[in-house]
Amino acid sequence: MVSRADLHCHSTFSDGRLTPTELVDLAYHNGVRILSLTDHDIVDGLPEAFEAAERYADFTLIPGIEMSTDVPGNEVHILGHFIDWHNPAFLDRLSHLQESRLNRARLMVEKLQQLNKPVSWERVQFFAGEGAVGRPHIALALMEARHVSSVNEAFDLYLSRNGPAYVPRDRLGPEEVISLLVDVGGMATLAHPRELLAAGGLENLLESLRAAGLTGIEVYYQDYLPEEIDTFRDLASRYGLIPLGGSDYHGLGGPQQREPGDIPLPIEPVQKLLALAEERGALDRARIAHSR
Ligand SMILES: [Zn+2]
Ligand SMILES: [Zn+2]
Repeated sequence: MVSRADLHCHSTFSDGRLTPTELVDLAYHNGVRILSLTDHDIVDGLPEAFEAAERYADFTLIPGIEMSTDVPGNEVHILGHFIDWHNPAFLDRLSHLQESRLNRARLMVEKLQQLNKPVSWERVQFFAGEGAVGRPHIALALMEARHVSSVNEAFDLYLSRNGPAYVPRDRLGPEEVISLLVDVGGMATLAHPRELLAAGGLENLLESLRAAGLTGIEVYYQDYLPEEIDTFRDLASRYGLIPLGGSDYHGLGGPQQREPGDIPLPIEPVQKLLALAEERGALDRARIAHSR
C-alpha cells in the first residue's frame, strides 16, 4: 500500500544515495504528495528540495531533520518537522555538532596511526562524501588500506565501543534535542522505536520525552509488521502522541528498504500534524500544495 505521505527520508546531504531533487522526483512518481526531507543533523539539503518541490503544483514539502541522541546503552533518533531551519542559533548548534563529530573522527584516525594501521584523512572524507563523517567511513578507509577485510572486521578489531581506536561522542540527550527542535517551532517525533521497545524501558522514555515536548512517534515504518504497528499505535494513543511514519528511504538497498511512500501511513495523522503546525504558526514553513 502506497501512502500519500512520507515523513522520513534521506538525501546525499546525509547518508542517502539520491540528491534532494532525485528524492522529490521519485517520491512524486510513487504517488507521495506530502514529503519531509529529514537528513541526519543537517538542513543543507532543504533549499534544493524546496526548489525541486516547486515543479509540482500538488506537492507539499515539510522541512525536517533527524537528530541522533544518546540514552545509556542506546541511540535515540528524534525527527523534527516544520523546523525554522533558518534560525541562526539552531544553525550554530548544528555546526558545533558537526565540528565535534569531525574532531572525534580525526582522533580515531590518530589512534589508528598509533596502532600502526594508518589511514589517510582525505580518504575518510572521500568516503563520507557530503555526509557527516563517522565510523563507517573510517572502516571503509581501513578496508581500502587492506588493514581489514570487511567493515565488520574494522568495527570488531578497532572501532567498536571497546575497540582500541574508539573515541566516545559528545552525548546529547533526547530531551535536550526535543527542546532544541521545539525552540525553533518544530514538532518532535520519536523515530523507529522497535529497538527501544526491545531494549526495554520505552514507556519510561516516552513519559519523559512527552514532558520535554514530544508530539509524535513513528508507528508506520519500513518493514514494521501489522502487530508491531498495533503495539506502537496503542502506545501513541496512551501517551497522546500522533502516530506518524516514514520509509526512512536511503536508496542503499537491503531487505528492510522501502521506497518513498511504501508504508501504510494513513492520511489522518498527517493531517493532525499539519493542523498542529497551523496552530503553532509553523505551517508556512512548508511548501503547501493547495490540493492536499
Ligand atoms: Zn534513524
Ligand atoms: Zn532516518
